[in-house]
Amino acid sequence: MRPHRVVGRIREEGEWNLLLPWLRSDAGFATGTSDTSDCDNQMVKRFEGRTVIVTGAARGMGASHARGFVEEGANVVVADVLEEEGRLMARQLGARAEFVSLDVRSPEQWAAVVETAERAFGPVSVLVNNAGVTWHDVAIVDSDPADWQRVIDTNLNGAYLGMRAVVPSMRKAGGGAIVNVSSSVAMIGLPRIAPYVASKWALRGLTKCAAMEMAQDSIRVNSVHPGMTITPMVDDIVDEVTAFTSTLAIPRAADPAEITNLVLYVASDEASFSTGSEFVADGGAILGPARPWQPELTGG
Ligand code: NAD
Repeated sequence: MRPHRVVGRIREEGEWNLLLPWLRSDAGFATGTSDTSDCDNQMVKRFEGRTVIVTGAARGMGASHARGFVEEGANVVVADVLEEEGRLMARQLGARAEFVSLDVRSPEQWAAVVETAERAFGPVSVLVNNAGVTWHDVAIVDSDPADWQRVIDTNLNGAYLGMRAVVPSMRKAGGGAIVNVSSSVAMIGLPRIAPYVASKWALRGLTKCAAMEMAQDSIRVNSVHPGMTITPMVDDIVDEVTAFTSTLAIPRAADPAEITNLVLYVASDEASFSTGSEFVADGGAILGPARPWQPELTGG
């Protein structure tokens, strides 16, 4: 039995002893006491047969997350505004992936994505709200309100609309997990990138409200906070990324696969006791500089 179903039954029936077999050995990871014969059980793929929606999955981190879920046995809806890249990505992932065109700012398109996911693969168990846009190097006083709105609409409202759309489907699945991809900047302030920072802080807060509301449906909601990661989003600021990351405790940018590992964990039953929580993978960026600035890296 899946842990979220066990927890749901415990809540309904007050049968705490239902949890005991699962804690003792079914899941292996829970007790840390299993002998090596449990290794075979642990080879079962973490998302076998489950339906997963990943937004912004045509490229960058979203594509890496979609690939990770397929490798773990899931059926994945690759949702993105980039139709050509999205279709290509789904084709590369094989029969257990399907592309659906989605602008996360549209409630109507969200309804269509959930309907397509259910029709193709069954009720949705996992949603990764990964789609996002950024805004570089403009002071608030010089900014265009339309640009502000575009970032907030995508990064914050898009995740809100996604959560709202999938809950009925997750109820049919008996529970689920939502991962909201925020950023390490949701823990700090940064100049000249205000709407991005504000949207990621707000998404962190929204995650906590959703976790409290959705627990009754055995849906866990958590936020993941990547630091600098090499994707098309940072293509045009590679020098700045190199200079910034050179000062960190782990002095480099992340590979998308390193963030995918965290997303898979948070979405999986291994994280069955985590909801409303923040999972950071940022090379120590929030700690501040751990070593001297290296101007030779930027020529500065
Ligand atoms: P990316 O630009 O490579 O990919 C973002 C994807 O989102 C693209 O495929 C894009 O088409 C899609 N998208 C944008 N607007 C959309 C919309 N309205 N509807 C549907 N899809 C839309 O960026 P990435 O670096 O892979 O970023 C993924 C997530 O991680 C974003 O939320 C981003 O803010 C966050 N993040 C990135 C970094 C980084 O350093 N790259 C760091 C922290 C957080």
